[in-house]
Amino acid sequence: MQWETVIGLEIHTQLATRSKIFSGAPTDFGAAPNTQACAVDLGLPGVLPVLNEGAVILAVRFGTAIEAEIAERSVFARKNYFYPDLPKGYQISQYERPVVGRGRVRIRLDDGAVKEVGVTRAHLEEDAGKSLHEDFHGLTGIDLNRAGTPLLEIVSEPDLRSPEEAVAYARKLHRIVRWIGVSDGNMQEGSFRVDANVSVRPLGEETLGTRTEIKNINSFRFLDRAIRFEVARQIDVIEGGGRVVQETRLYDADRDETRAMRTKEEANDYRYFPDPDLLPLVIDADFVARATRGMPELPDARHRRFRDQYGLSDYDADLLTASRDLGDYYECVAAGTGDPKLAANWVNGELAAALNRAGLEIGESPVDAHMLAGLIRRIRDRTISGKLAKQVFEAIWNGEGDADAIIAARGLKQITDVGAIEAVIEDILAANPAQVEQYRGGKDKVFGFFVGQVMKATKGKANPQQVNALLKEKLGS
Ligand code: ADP
Ligand code: MG
Repeated sequence: MQWETVIGLEIHTQLATRSKIFSGAPTDFGAAPNTQACAVDLGLPGVLPVLNEGAVILAVRFGTAIEAEIAERSVFARKNYFYPDLPKGYQISQYERPVVGRGRVRIRLDDGAVKEVGVTRAHLEEDAGKSLHEDFHGLTGIDLNRAGTPLLEIVSEPDLRSPEEAVAYARKLHRIVRWIGVSDGNMQEGSFRVDANVSVRPLGEETLGTRTEIKNINSFRFLDRAIRFEVARQIDVIEGGGRVVQETRLYDADRDETRAMRTKEEANDYRYFPDPDLLPLVIDADFVARATRGMPELPDARHRRFRDQYGLSDYDADLLTASRDLGDYYECVAAGTGDPKLAANWVNGELAAALNRAGLEIGESPVDAHMLAGLIRRIRDRTISGKLAKQVFEAIWNGEGDADAIIAARGLKQITDVGAIEAVIEDILAANPAQVEQYRGGKDKVFGFFVGQVMKATKGKANPQQVNALLKEKLGS
């Protein structure tokens, strides 16, 4: 039996506002426990929530970025349940009428094809506090700082067909929210958390299978692992004659497995009703125009432009649009060198590797775009070979100055003087008569030996193309 995997993701992303969604309390991460939740966040008697306009602006920006309908009128509801980190007894969320309606996100598959994934909705809601189980022996700590932090929950259609597609979609959303400044997307701090709904069905079947929901996944790698495990588990259950039970599960990264948390029967009845303390949210065209003013060129558009304007491959364009900062950096290097392809090779190659090794973001790079452009210019005008350029790059990285200064200080200038290279070649041929004999006798491989000797004698500074041409000439081949 062939099985098809079906996945829909619900992603909670924390909005980058300075204050909470219904109060003026700060949203900073990492403050001392219980110092940033005010009476409104705790829902103490007599308080009135007031909607933070900043959160609405970010939701509208996001909706516009995914080509979604923005609801002219949406409603906040109370989702009632008891939990120690929710002292109010309810969470304010949008239920029947979300602020962002149907939209779409494009992902690139491994074979290069582009797939459009439907977004069902995105709604505003407040976060709850946090229960801390690790630091307290036999006890649970409650930190309410996060209570009332604004979230946008982004719900996808069940359009995803593999763990790879799910990860590509989640990564794309992550790229978008950071790109337009809607969220810092910090996954360690919980600013971007994924719930994965997973089911399987016989290939060709149209009806969806029964799904399970894996909650609160906070890394792309875990998302991939969790889905893989869950798909295999469901297939095992069905092939063993059982039925998949609709339930909420948890991914345990240490054991690389998912475990049941609660079944549908135990699920809460949230008794949603419109929050009587909050007016419906009404958004007109003016507000949308204001919220989306200064919206940057979006990732897809920039990807297309990088391909068309600079002749880059989809692969390079994809890497260079990982973030806005990286794209800006690249364009600066491309402009400063007049060679967009070589610029892409250096940014995606040497620079990316060095940043990766050092664990730095592009904004923290010790080699700025002008310096990298300066180095690439010296490759282009053949002052240095590509090989020595790597050495120069390392020196720039270590703060030794710009490319010209390093080339001068280290005497790395490429030798392009024909006479000088010829002289070296003659010395080497004279010193190695046996190899010359072998080469002339038909042993072509010896050619590489001569190239190596010339480069060694010139400390890698001889222009390689010239060395090749002159060697051939001298050896009479
Ligand atoms: P709920 O409101 O109970 O969370 P929804 O119908 O809103 O359920 O769906 C939540 C998420 O689950 C959506 O992302 C949706 O695409 C996904 N989903 C729904 N049915 C399935 C299924 N059979 N298999 C996989 N994902 C599903
Ligand atoms: Mg759900």
